[in-house]
Amino acid sequence: MNNINEAIDSFGRRLKYLRISVTDRCNFRCKYCMPNNDFHMLECDDILRYEDILFAAEVFSKLGVNRIRVTGGEPLVRKGIIEFLSKLTKIANINEVMVTTNGSLLYKYAQDLYNAGVKRLNISLDSLKPERNKYITGFDKTDDILKGIELASSIGIRPVKVNSVIIRDFNDDEIEDFANLAAKYNVICRFIEFMPIGNADDWGQDNIIYGDDIIKRLAKYEPVELPRDINSGPAVNYKLNNGGIVGIITPISNHFCSDCDKLRLTSDGKIRPCLLSDKEIDIKDVLKKRDEDMLINMIMESLDSKKDKHSVTDTEQKYDFKRTMSKIGG
Ligand code: SAM
Ligand code: SF4
Repeated sequence: MNNINEAIDSFGRRLKYLRISVTDRCNFRCKYCMPNNDFHMLECDDILRYEDILFAAEVFSKLGVNRIRVTGGEPLVRKGIIEFLSKLTKIANINEVMVTTNGSLLYKYAQDLYNAGVKRLNISLDSLKPERNKYITGFDKTDDILKGIELASSIGIRPVKVNSVIIRDFNDDEIEDFANLAAKYNVICRFIEFMPIGNADDWGQDNIIYGDDIIKRLAKYEPVELPRDINSGPAVNYKLNNGGIVGIITPISNHFCSDCDKLRLTSDGKIRPCLLSDKEIDIKDVLKKRDEDMLINMIMESLDSKKDKHSVTDTEQKYDFKRTMSKIGG
């Protein structure tokens, strides 16, 4: 039974965290995120307006949400994003607003983000090799991304996290390079297991490099596991002997569902209770009507539908999620 004031789900997990996708548009075309055929962008009218999202955020905050991550698509390509973020950071009870970006525009926006109240950033970067980045994302923006990472770290955004999806025979030879980047730029480099979302054809158990394997490959850096803290998120972090910190995120080999305190809001106004399940609850009309009571009911319904854990690894079934990460908000 849920308690409205605290918004607790049927497994005792307290709702604290909301991930908002502000757009499905992106200036990259990452191979594992955007399918290479039959890909349709949402119609502009179907995308929530900033006012709708701010209303949603206020209601979520009344139910106990105190951290919000803004993602996409690429959030920095949406017009008016800085102004929106400065309003979001001012909502009562929201202690932290974080942004996940591909980093390509960060060198332009890092200071504006900081001034808007965004003090934590996640940057997705799967390779440090320009030609490989071009192959993965469709563009070679490696220098711009590194410039953005360095700038964000130097102006005091803490922590800056660099997230890399590690795929066998694709970028798994760069694990040590990222460990060195962590020390060089004073950022946390996190390695994420490849998930069956997006180009499902490319996903197979053989392509996944599991977290344990990644740590073994970092043996020469003598990784020491760090205690969990509020900033760890789903990662287990390790201190390396070069001074850097890396994190391992294992949605497949060791899911962290029991600690899941979040809901996702898609850019077209659907609550997605679990990333690895296609169930969604459409709240767009209720947001447009500013119907707070109904919205609270629908948030509680969404929370109630959260399972105790995802079932992606339970069977040999091939998963083919209807939405890509760019549409869900990764
Ligand atoms: N455009 C921004 C970015 O790239 O950081 C934010 C949105 S993107 C969908 C968020 C994250 O989802 C990225 O770090 C990306 O690598 C990750 N992602 C996309 N598809 C994935 C998959 N199949 N498995 C694991 N991570 C994935
Ligand atoms: Fe764009 Fe991010 Fe998806 Fe790459 S992972 S295509 S940058 S939304």
